[in-house]
Amino acid sequence: MDQDLLDATVRACRELIARRYPDDDHHGAAAMLLADGTILTGTAPTAINPAVEVCHEIEPYCGAHRLDQPILASVCLHREPGGRLLVLAPCGVCRERLAVHGPGVLVAVAHRADPTVIVWKRLNEVLPDYWMIAFPDEVDPAWRS
Ligand SMILES: [Zn+2]
Repeated sequence: MDQDLLDATVRACRELIARRYPDDDHHGAAAMLLADGTILTGTAPTAINPAVEVCHEIEPYCGAHRLDQPILASVCLHREPGGRLLVLAPCGVCRERLAVHGPGVLVAVAHRADPTVIVWKRLNEVLPDYWMIAFPDEVDPAWRS
């Protein structure tokens, strides 16, 4: 994976947070790198009932589908008051969504010693016991490696 493209994806995510949320409150966003080099970003609206809110990844995820492009990498960042940016690994539901794009999708996770530092991992590393492994005729063999 081209490190410059991964860096550009992270930069796009940071820039969206800065542009969309000029206040100093808690906010986040996500960005995804697509196979054609497109970088899509998104951020989730808040709702009166938090039960109906969605992940920041939803907008770029659906955008990739609209453009019929595979997702190569995904990052989600959360900015705390004061500006510190935390790396949020994809939630379980987003891991399931990204699984459609294969075990090689790179996802940004927080370094265990410093949650502001990105560690890129393959989806099959963060979803090691993917349920589709039970259907070996239907799943990419890389899921089992
Ligand atoms: Zn999610």
